Amino acid sequence: MSYPAIQLLIDSQWIARTGSGTLPIENPADGSVLGELPVAGETELRAALEAAQRGFKIWSRTLPIERFRIISKATHLIRERAPAIARILTMEQGKPLAEALREVQLSADIIEFLAEESKRLASRGVPPRLPNVLSQTVVRIPVGPVAAFTPWNFPANLPARKLGGALSAGCSVIIKPDEAVPATCMELVRAFQDAGLPAGVLNMLLGRPAEISSTLIASPVIAKISFTGSVPVGKLLGEQAARHMKRYTAELGGHAPVIVCADADGAAVARLAVPAKFRNAGQVCASPIRFLVHRSQYAAFRDAFVAGANALKIGPGLEEGTQFGPLIAQRRVDEMQRFVDDAVEQGGALLCGGKRLPRPGYFYTPTVIENAPMTARVQTQEPFGPIALLDVFDDLDAAIERANALPYALAAYGFTHDLNLAHRLSQSLEAGMVGINHFGVSQPETPFGGLKESGLGQESGLEGLLGYTELKLVSIAA
Ligand code: NAD
Repeated sequence: MSYPAIQLLIDSQWIARTGSGTLPIENPADGSVLGELPVAGETELRAALEAAQRGFKIWSRTLPIERFRIISKATHLIRERAPAIARILTMEQGKPLAEALREVQLSADIIEFLAEESKRLASRGVPPRLPNVLSQTVVRIPVGPVAAFTPWNFPANLPARKLGGALSAGCSVIIKPDEAVPATCMELVRAFQDAGLPAGVLNMLLGRPAEISSTLIASPVIAKISFTGSVPVGKLLGEQAARHMKRYTAELGGHAPVIVCADADGAAVARLAVPAKFRNAGQVCASPIRFLVHRSQYAAFRDAFVAGANALKIGPGLEEGTQFGPLIAQRRVDEMQRFVDDAVEQGGALLCGGKRLPRPGYFYTPTVIENAPMTARVQTQEPFGPIALLDVFDDLDAAIERANALPYALAAYGFTHDLNLAHRLSQSLEAGMVGINHFGVSQPETPFGGLKESGLGQESGLEGLLGYTELKLVSIAA
């Protein structure tokens, strides 16, 4: 399948052209232009808001079982179309095709789980204390029209979490995916349209992010903002949301520590860690970054980790056997180089990688740095790319303290065969998600979200659905 023509969707109408021009879409594997996207201007923003307002009236009053049937049909369409959508995803985002296919299939699972859970969204009866009150019920209602902003690293899964949660709860949505990866989200939106979603319930805009977000957040139509992206932008949108008393969910960056205890098998942990670290070229918010390894396991861990990183097959995502694709854009390659140069200048030892590849596209080699000092920028700022930091520890308490020292607190991992240590790590690591002896903390059934500056609220799982609801007390007297 070739790359599709990008269109906006407003009130069930696909819009190929606007009065506000276009932006190019690049293939990160070779820098070529895949296509262009229409930029939404004031007219489209106004039309999308009006549509979402009408769509909310229809969708919030649609019987939950009917909503479930339509959403469920969309998930079947996504699964049927997964091979074609995965190719598009790889073209615009760069990740290996097999990873893209798993992501698209998982996006159907995410939406399906949220739709299933919506059948069980129960009200709660509270025993009255006044004699004439017949019933007191806490009712869950959809929060209202939602503005959703998704980034470029998971072009299917991140829209799936927001669309699945909001639509299953009975909300209408205006979604704005990242301009680098518009086609994958457009194909998900198309599946919902083809499944029979009423007009106005789901709308998709593209254009200039700050212009779209500030207009939507300020509009009285929008009740809730959901954003995934960087901490600075998350804070900015949070300030705007607070000014207008809008509900806000933010899934932001991370800087995940991994503690490998003395009793763990260092080489075996390294073999698990390499695919976890370099999946999607490290452009993952829950990606393991700071490996703190007990001295007794350090050499075994380091040797196996570096060997694994060096063995990864780097190439365009559409090429057979590729395990590691390009970064999303030149600015990210430049940023990786700045992180690495700074760490090495300050005394960190480069064990592998640390350079761009001399070929078209935005390839940066899997990179491992040992003993980067705490003053190195990469120790405290999220690299969001293929950089792993290795450090030795002797004292577990000091390692835990170091793991918890940053304002990020999205994911943290620990490896040990000792049950007591497993409990100690799970209790003391400060993160929204803690994985002990594995890296698989993101599943459709489980909530995904961070503590501290890594975000507000959760997505996926039951909590990802509840985030699109409000509570209303209904008290009926005789
Ligand atoms: P960025 O901060 O420029 O953008 C991050 C995302 O926010 C992009 O999708 C962008 O389109 C969007 N955005 C930017 N300004 C916006 C605004 N005013 N309104 C609405 N959306 C806006 O960073 P980048 O160079 O694209 O990505 C690198 C950084 O982003 C990394 O440091 C990483 O922390 C973060 N990031 C996090 C996630 C995640 O899953 N939490 C995903 C992608 C990027």
